[in-house]
Amino acid sequence: MDYPLILAGHEVHTDKKIEVRFPYDDSLVGRVSAADGEIVERALQSAQEAFARTRTLCAGHREDILLKVRQLLRERESEFVDIIVAETGKTTREAKVEVSRAQETLALAAALLREPPGEVIPFDVAPNGSHKWGFYKRFPLGPVLAITPFNFPLNLPMHKIAPAIAAGNPFIFKPASKTPITGLMLGKLIIEAGYPPEAVSVLPGSGAEIGEKLAADPRIKVVTFTGSSAVGKKLAVAAAGKHIALELGSNSAAIVLADADLFWAADRIAKGAVALAGQVCISTQRVYVEEVISDRFVEHLVSLMKRFRIGDPRDEMTDVGPMISRKDVERIKQWVSEAVASGGQILCGGNDRGNLFEPTVLVNVPQEAKVVQMEAFAPIVVVNPVSDLDEAINLVNDSRYGLNAGIFTRDITAARKAYEEIEVGGVIVNDVPSFRADIMPYGGVKDSGLGREGPRYAFEHMTYIKVFCAHQPEQE
Ligand code: NAP
Repeated sequence: MDYPLILAGHEVHTDKKIEVRFPYDDSLVGRVSAADGEIVERALQSAQEAFARTRTLCAGHREDILLKVRQLLRERESEFVDIIVAETGKTTREAKVEVSRAQETLALAAALLREPPGEVIPFDVAPNGSHKWGFYKRFPLGPVLAITPFNFPLNLPMHKIAPAIAAGNPFIFKPASKTPITGLMLGKLIIEAGYPPEAVSVLPGSGAEIGEKLAADPRIKVVTFTGSSAVGKKLAVAAAGKHIALELGSNSAAIVLADADLFWAADRIAKGAVALAGQVCISTQRVYVEEVISDRFVEHLVSLMKRFRIGDPRDEMTDVGPMISRKDVERIKQWVSEAVASGGQILCGGNDRGNLFEPTVLVNVPQEAKVVQMEAFAPIVVVNPVSDLDEAINLVNDSRYGLNAGIFTRDITAARKAYEEIEVGGVIVNDVPSFRADIMPYGGVKDSGLGREGPRYAFEHMTYIKVFCAHQPEQE
């Protein structure tokens, strides 16, 4: 099937096509029209003009639109699940969770319009403020550019587009080239729900060709990007001086202390390592476990990892689907070989079949190895023993990334210490770093990015504060 792109609310076919393939068997899912320089220019022009309309939509109208998108998404849930599975290769169960979370993200964005951030300012507490009164509220900044990766083609765009609509901003959305169809379906829902069509452009196309050009254009006022650290850094340069949010990669770690519920920890870590075949920015990649329980923990973890069924993601019984491409399978095979050559051992997994890679547990891997230092983005977990919490925290922090970390312990003092000392955007106690709720402020430090998502935080990022201050002379 041929899918047109969306230019200022219109469906447009172009000569340049992107082929979308099912990662499980590389069969063709569809062909998508890609944007060229002229389409990009027209989208920018329209977004700029549309701002005059979107900025004046009243809050109730924007709330209705967001709730209507949610209702349409609920009605068409199975269509979205099927296309997400076909584009990403994630399992049907995982795709269902994504569609349901996208509805939650919409509900959270709509709720902002009932209690928008803003406050009364007590000017008269200061001597120079006597007889003054006022408040501030937030105003939309203007056209938003949203660029997203392949792994969550619905809910990651939703974290950008729903707050953009709540704020009253037009948007141009560039989905990942491997998964653009879901984004096009989302664009159509938003138009059907009543957002001004001229404010909606969904432009598939090579990020390297059109991404930086879009980000640098002065008509774009906000850039919100989720993807790799390498691309994020380029965008930070292209969009210098603009409001920019970067949600980037990680090699997330969990600590397991001797007093933890070992079975719960192993179960959560196994699931956190293989969700979406490990292709989640907060996949549980590194585990530092206190050595007194290390053998028992590893034994249990390995038995759980061996139980996962890998295979066709359309089969409801499948736990772990394929990786996104053969190239990525080859990359992780090489990294695992390098880890073994430097002294690491594979306790289970390590093999591939087509684009499937077996859930893999590695131990005794040196801290310098790629599977520890880089973002693996594969269903693997590296477990190393530590003598105490201090050593674990040092090793967690020995990373260029800092997105989420997890700690399993019953000791509140240890949990607090981890929270205080680990350099990340979130510390999850008694669960894996892979945990994210759509309501929470989410984002990282170091090479994991800047800014926070979650509808309220993204809304703040896409708006500016304007103060109202009035002088009221003393009544006679
Ligand atoms: P990617 O290669 O960085 O691509 C992400 C998006 O950027 C795609 O739409 C891509 O377009 C575009 N792009 C590529 N080069 C560009 C350029 N020079 N200028 C502007 N845009 C450009 O990432 P990916 O492989 O799709 O996704 C995996 C990465 O995303 C991982 O690092 C993962 O950790 C990260 N991620 C982070 C979060 C988070 O919330 N922190 C969530 C999910 C994923 P093309 O597809 O056309 O190349």
